[in-house]
Amino acid sequence: MTSTFQFQQIGVVHSCYKQKFGIPRQPGLVTEASGSIELLPPFNRLDVLDGLDDFSHIWVHFIFHECMNDTWKAKIRPPRLGGKEKMGIFATRATHRPNPLGLSVVAIKGVRKEGKRVFIDIIGADLLDQTPIVDIKPYLPYADALLEAKGGFAPLPTILKPVMFSELALEQANSYKETYQRDLIPLIEQVISQDPRPSYLAGLKGRDHGNLLWNANIKWTAKEDHFLVTQIEFPIGEVDEQVKDA
Ligand code: SAH
Repeated sequence: MTSTFQFQQIGVVHSCYKQKFGIPRQPGLVTEASGSIELLPPFNRLDVLDGLDDFSHIWVHFIFHECMNDTWKAKIRPPRLGGKEKMGIFATRATHRPNPLGLSVVAIKGVRKEGKRVFIDIIGADLLDQTPIVDIKPYLPYADALLEAKGGFAPLPTILKPVMFSELALEQANSYKETYQRDLIPLIEQVISQDPRPSYLAGLKGRDHGNLLWNANIKWTAKEDHFLVTQIEFPIGEVDEQVKDA
C-alpha cells in the first residue's frame, strides 16, 4: 500500500491560454506568452518572495486540473511521435499521469502587489488559465541546466510553416491592439507556427481551427506551405483583468 499526500494550493495562473488546444508542448517555445501567478492567501505576501529578484527563472509545480478525473495508462502515444508509437508514461511529459502534477520552468518578468493581491509576472509558460500552483522554486543553472543531457524522442521542435494573416485578420488585430494595448500578432505567430493540431490532422489542409488567446478567438487554416489566420473574433468571454494589466 503506498501513501497518499495532500497539498495546499499556493497560487493560481492567469494566462493567455484559455483552452488546452494551442498551448505549446513545453515552456519557452512561445516567448510571447505572458501571464502571471497570483499568490493566494495566506501566501499573498511579498516576504515569501524575498531574494527572488536575483533569479531570472522559476520552477513551477502545478496541477493538470483539466485532467484530474482522467485515467492514466502505462503507455501513451506522445504527439511528438505523430501518434504512431507508444512510450511508457514515466518516459513522457504527458498530462494524464497517476498524479496530475506538472512542472514548468518560466522566466520572471517582475513581482507586483496590488492591494492584497500579489503577482509574479511570467513569460513563456505552457500553462492553462486558472491552473492551480502547488510550489515555486528558483531555477539553479549550475544544477538544472545540463548542456550534455540527451533529449530522447523529444528534441527541440522545428518550426513547421510560416503564419500569414488575411487582410481582415490584420485589421481585427489592429483594432484589438487599439482596444486593449496588446499586440496579438507575435503571440499568434508563435502559437500557430508550433502546429497545435493533433497528429491525425497534421497532414490535412483546409480545415478551420480556432484558438482562444486572451479574450480573442483566432480562426486559422492550414495551407500547402503556410498557416493562414483568417479572422480574429473578440471579445470572447469575460475581459480578464490581465488583458489590461499584463
Ligand atoms: N511543462 C509541463 C507540461 C507539459 S505538457 C510538464 O512537463 O509537466 C504541456 C501541455 O499541458 C500543454 O500542451 C497543455 O495542453 C497542457 N496543460 C497546461 N496546463 C494544464 C492544466 N491546468 N490542465 C490540463 N492540461 C494542461
